[in-house]
Amino acid sequence: MATDFDVIIVGGGGAGLAAAIEATKLGASCIVLEADTKLGGATALSAGVFYAADTSVQREAGVEGDTADAMFTYVMAVNQWALKPDVIRLICDESGPTVEWLRSLGTRFIKEFLVVSGVDDMPRGHSSEGAGGGIADALINAAGALGVQTALGTRVERLLFEDGRVTGVHAGGMDLHGAVTIITTGGFGNSPEMIAKHFPTAAQHGSWTWAVHDPAPFILGDGITLGEQVGAGIAGHDTGLLLPTSGVGKFVEAFLPPWIMMVNEDGRRFAPETSSYTVCGYLINEQTNAHAFAIFDDPTMLEASNDSSYLDPYNSGLATPTWEEATLRKRIASGDVKVADTLVELAAKCGIDGAALVETARRYNADIADGVDRQFFKKAKKLFTVETGPFYAVEVKAAIIGVTGAGLDADRQCRVLDTHGVAIPGLYGAGEVLGVLQGKRYAGGGFSIGPAVILGREAGRQAAVEALSHREAVA
Ligand SMILES: Cc1cc2nc3c(=O)[nH]c(=O)nc-3n(C[C@H](O)[C@H](O)[C@H](O)COP(=O)(O)OP(=O)(O)OC[C@H]3O[C@@H](n4cnc5c(N)ncnc54)[C@H](O)[C@@H]3O)c2cc1C
Repeated sequence: MATDFDVIIVGGGGAGLAAAIEATKLGASCIVLEADTKLGGATALSAGVFYAADTSVQREAGVEGDTADAMFTYVMAVNQWALKPDVIRLICDESGPTVEWLRSLGTRFIKEFLVVSGVDDMPRGHSSEGAGGGIADALINAAGALGVQTALGTRVERLLFEDGRVTGVHAGGMDLHGAVTIITTGGFGNSPEMIAKHFPTAAQHGSWTWAVHDPAPFILGDGITLGEQVGAGIAGHDTGLLLPTSGVGKFVEAFLPPWIMMVNEDGRRFAPETSSYTVCGYLINEQTNAHAFAIFDDPTMLEASNDSSYLDPYNSGLATPTWEEATLRKRIASGDVKVADTLVELAAKCGIDGAALVETARRYNADIADGVDRQFFKKAKKLFTVETGPFYAVEVKAAIIGVTGAGLDADRQCRVLDTHGVAIPGLYGAGEVLGVLQGKRYAGGGFSIGPAVILGREAGRQAAVEALSHREAVA
């Protein structure tokens, strides 16, 4: 078969660019086809946090002793081993070397913003200067320096499939032949149909549901459709990251304010209000009717609500304040935020068990009087009681899509697998389009860009080796 390129890459975000760089370095001719008018995808829009173990940035920050083994143990445990161990092992082993690789390409990780971004104690969230742009720009520049061809405004519509093998793509009315094709089209957060089908926990929130990928117009799940056309299996049903929100609009939020007391319909607390999004949104969605209520009193709103220091621990510049007093006052006036003189009346307005709410507040207040949250170990620079009316209730749902988890089934070599688990000849995948990266919980901030770049590199290497042997075979 004559080919136009050794490797065709569909999607020019973090995974696609990393794949192009590695494949080109191994001598393969590559083209990146990008539907948007610019490269970078969600990677460029992101907060730019990269989850990694055993890095020079950790050591510069005085964090010693982290290992890929420890990262593997944590990621598998927090996901109850509901992930492919060999894929996760590769991600953990390559996380450190990939941070060094990105640094060598010009990404600047800031040691002062190395954060604990999961629910273990190890700081593995590497924040890059310039947020996601700091990672995307490094990749775009490196691909450019290597002479990788790119075609912008080119949305791939289908894969070419001949004699049981993917032989290229169809885009813009023409066929392009490649020995190997890599799908790196990202997630599906901007497609309501895909969300309904593959992420029902997100879909249940109706008009509250939206994805932080909103400004990236082609995060529509095309890669899933392309793969399915050639028999790909779909994995990771209903997994992904859902961030908590008070439903105020399309503002990037990831953390709840520390000064609220959060309860479910039973009037019970069920999580530390300051918990990481590794667990917070999942716990909210596990409550009756998949929602919760932030309860606070008037003195707390007056004293605490204008302090936004909790919003953006990764220093990304992306988070928007939505809980400050002016916004709350508007929402109280519109009836959106409930207000009452007593907790029992407030509970009645929200459908919460009133007696339980009173008891929950009593225990919470008693703990705070002693300076410690004995039940849930909430960490905050100051804890606020709920005791002086009027009292307020803000409904909270975990409805903002941070990452979609469902996608193409793949193996450790990034080969796309069919519904029987057999590799589809000529087809690889990497990044958010894969359904093998997210499990029961999001491991921690950075566990999407990390796997995207790591597996992008791996897919590029594997694809190049296969394409070059194909080139030799037809020569
Ligand atoms: C605001 C925001 C903040 C985030 N913060 C973080 C964070 O700090 N850490 C973290 O780990 N994750 C974060 N994420 C998630 C993370 O950015 C993504 O999961 C990751 O970057 C995905 O990389 P990717 O290469 O798979 O896809 P992308 O970078 O999204 O690239 C996919 C590309 O494919 C293109 N494409 C789609 N369909 C086609 C088609 N048919 N033909 C051609 N091209 C196509 C798209 O236009 C896009 O450019 C964030 C996401 C957002 C939006």
